[in-house]
Amino acid sequence: MDNSKQIISELLEKVITNTENFLGYPVSKDFDYDELMPFLKYPMNNLGDPFINSTYGVNSNEMEKEVIAFFAKLFRAEPNNWWGYVSNGGSEGNLYGLYLARERYPKAMVYYSESTHYSVQKNLHLLNMPCIVIRTQDNGEMDYDDLKESMRNHRNVPAIVLANIGTTMTEAVDDVQQIKRVMKSLAIQHHYVHCDAALGGIINALTEPRPAFDFKDGADSIAISGHKFIGSPIPCGVVVVKKANRDRIAMAVSYIGSSDTTITGSRNGHSPLFLWYALRKLGIEGLKARVAKSRETAEYALTQFRANNIPAWRNPNAITVVIPPQPKVVAAKWQLATEGDLSHVICMPNVTHAQIDDLIQDILNSTEDEPLGSEMYELY
Ligand SMILES: *Cc1c(COP(=O)(O)O)cnc(C)c1O
Repeated sequence: MDNSKQIISELLEKVITNTENFLGYPVSKDFDYDELMPFLKYPMNNLGDPFINSTYGVNSNEMEKEVIAFFAKLFRAEPNNWWGYVSNGGSEGNLYGLYLARERYPKAMVYYSESTHYSVQKNLHLLNMPCIVIRTQDNGEMDYDDLKESMRNHRNVPAIVLANIGTTMTEAVDDVQQIKRVMKSLAIQHHYVHCDAALGGIINALTEPRPAFDFKDGADSIAISGHKFIGSPIPCGVVVVKKANRDRIAMAVSYIGSSDTTITGSRNGHSPLFLWYALRKLGIEGLKARVAKSRETAEYALTQFRANNIPAWRNPNAITVVIPPQPKVVAAKWQLATEGDLSHVICMPNVTHAQIDDLIQDILNSTEDEPLGSEMYELY
């Protein structure tokens, strides 16, 4: 007897429930791509470089190029010196940025803060790049004095800095201009700055005054996640780099007669279509409205937590509200990620005041005093 129908419906039910109570991860769930459903019947594949037509015709390359152009402009890239692609997510975008950095400066030292996303260490390991972890300030932002001390000892080699534009736990934003000032003060002339802007790229680009993180501020590449602030049924991301740096690696493989400029060969052809569609529907104004809505909810959450004697804080402009680790039942129900003595609620555009109220009730009603500790967290 084939019971796959039942298995599928059970999974669907679970997915629906878990999507409802979703406050701990930076993933938007308020997207509507119904109009694009017919494309699920076709083997979309944006094989290779999006800017070079391959012979594989079932693709969304045209949309992908528009998505990249949108972000190149949003991140103030030099008009004729940008390139990029829609990746499988922020992690791949970080891998790509660090890869270009290594090809540019093979003997460089990499610097990143201790609040950096866990995937970066693995990426550096894959790329076999030496690195130094920099201390962070209490809010999760890079400690620039420690950066300076560390760089001073390695002034003889180029510097590659991975800056966080919204850290995973506290959404702290490293200041790219400050990082550049540190390098200038040490007369380090060869440097590369990659920005991990997985969640914070869109948010910070639409913030006034604008934090220093984009190409105009001195970034050499920027990676964002597509399924986070915009939202997508398939994890995806966007990486924007300087075209000159992309051309360097394209030349390196030209002897095989290919423009193998992306990490993977076959690439998702559906996700560029989702991103293109969302950007078309929202435009800059729509994105701004989403940012404003998220901030308003974060402000509300902060006030309500404090009113109920739950310690809480947030970085300026962040949509992440930091709270202490919560009892297991609460953390599990609301999918609250926890690291060390920090947990958080991320006020994505779909998060409502009612959900914040419910969460607070759950916290107040919880009799369990055993919080989800860091040990537990490491299992995931
Ligand atoms: C989510 C996140 C990543 C990883 O992005 P994926 O899209 O999940 O691969 C990297 N860095 C930061 C700061 C993140 O928040």
